[in-house]
Amino acid sequence: MSKNTRVPGYMQSKAARNTRGIIGDREIRFKCSLQNTILDVLRGRPGWQEVPGSQTSTQPQDGKGTKTGSTGATPSNTQNTPATSGGKTGDGDWDFYWCDREWLHQNYDTMFLHEHQKILHFRNHYELTRKNLMVKNLKRLKKQTEREQGKSEGLSFDFHPTTYELPSEYHIFVEEFKRNPGITWIMKPAAKSQGKGIFLFRRLKDITDWKKGEYQPLTDTTREVPETYVVQRYIENPYLIGGRKFDIRIYVLVVSYNPLKVWLYRDGFARFSNTRFSLDSIEDAYVHLTNVSVQKNAPDYDPEKGCKWSTMRLRQYLTAKHGSEAVKKVFKGIDNIITKGLQSVQKIIINDKHCFEMYGYDILLDSDLKPWLIEINASPSLTASGKEDYELKFGLLNDLLNVLDLENRLTGKEKRIGGWDLLWDDGPVLADDGNMECTTNGTSVTTANSFLGCHNDRKRQLREIYTSAQAIKKT
Ligand code: ADP
Repeated sequence: MSKNTRVPGYMQSKAARNTRGIIGDREIRFKCSLQNTILDVLRGRPGWQEVPGSQTSTQPQDGKGTKTGSTGATPSNTQNTPATSGGKTGDGDWDFYWCDREWLHQNYDTMFLHEHQKILHFRNHYELTRKNLMVKNLKRLKKQTEREQGKSEGLSFDFHPTTYELPSEYHIFVEEFKRNPGITWIMKPAAKSQGKGIFLFRRLKDITDWKKGEYQPLTDTTREVPETYVVQRYIENPYLIGGRKFDIRIYVLVVSYNPLKVWLYRDGFARFSNTRFSLDSIEDAYVHLTNVSVQKNAPDYDPEKGCKWSTMRLRQYLTAKHGSEAVKKVFKGIDNIITKGLQSVQKIIINDKHCFEMYGYDILLDSDLKPWLIEINASPSLTASGKEDYELKFGLLNDLLNVLDLENRLTGKEKRIGGWDLLWDDGPVLADDGNMECTTNGTSVTTANSFLGCHNDRKRQLREIYTSAQAIKKT
């Protein structure tokens, strides 16, 4: 079919469109605000066409962002920062838009989306991704659960460290502080990321300076409203490997909030701090903050070695050390965190069939192997820190597009698409017997359709599901 004769999906008759309302037989026009792995994925996808003017610059921004390591295999591997929105948007000149959050905030309320259009982010994603709001929503669902199902059910929400919002909850925090003398607390700006503005403290007087700057009664009306912080109990006993602390980055895709439909990516990574853990040096960010953006500035950071392990390697390590039963429990705990987090905002998020969101969950294990939710990101970094990281992110994003299936090549009934497993579909999803392949040691480990840290033979799996979907569609 020549380009000129193609008719946009939304202009085709209903019969000509496929039944799921997605684009028919023509190229898919995309826009992308970021210049990193996602842009490579979109540009490399057969049948996808970039909307002219959707980027100001198509060149990598040299000298910015994380270095690619020795491989140089990361053509658009620059910052996770917006390039430009550019061009008309929301007018039907695109089918798929990987936009930045700022763009969505500015435009969502006034734009009209056609039936087939897909856009990254839900309107009020910050309900889950601002540190203070996440905790508020979790506390509310916990209370509701206790009321409706009893106190013991509420225990399943005890996975985030005690947290208070400042300045609004300063006085309650001080009471809690006095009840627990000597423990360590961590202060974090509610809406910042990459470890910015974070510090640890043990004495109230350590936050006097912060209080002086931020927490003053607003008698002076010209003064800006103080920035919201959260103060959180610091996990003093993290699980250590080689004496170093780490947290786990997990990718979760929500394609609908009503009903809630959630996919979990089986790959991810553990991010290690570069320096051995100790509670003696609470002012040392290289010891306590595992963000790559912090660690890569450590004086002895080695970009060749990096500071990441794949989640599969971590799972194998834990299994060898603690046995599969203990590890099964850890990963079940992580599944619980993922779903409870999303359920806590399910009724608040403005659901829109055009929107999807890929979250980056940050989970920390303590020395008892208990998983703790640290935070949830709406824009997890897609900038690769080396060849392996690039491959992980390239596969992750390609499979995300496979799940969204704008090409309408699948049946819509799949429980696994490449590296993504359907975790929740208006209720928990169970694994098929034939799908019990979470084998770090050759045995199946779970009945939930959750395979975090398991073998990701995504290419083989994609071949299989596309062949089978084609056969089903023919009949
Ligand atoms: P940011 O959004 O700036 O990355 P995070 O809440 O993710 O802020 O915290 C940054 C890092 O600090 C985490 O990756 C983790 O290593 C560490 N950290 C944060 N909160 C805690 C906590 N309560 N206990 C232990 N470590 C924490």
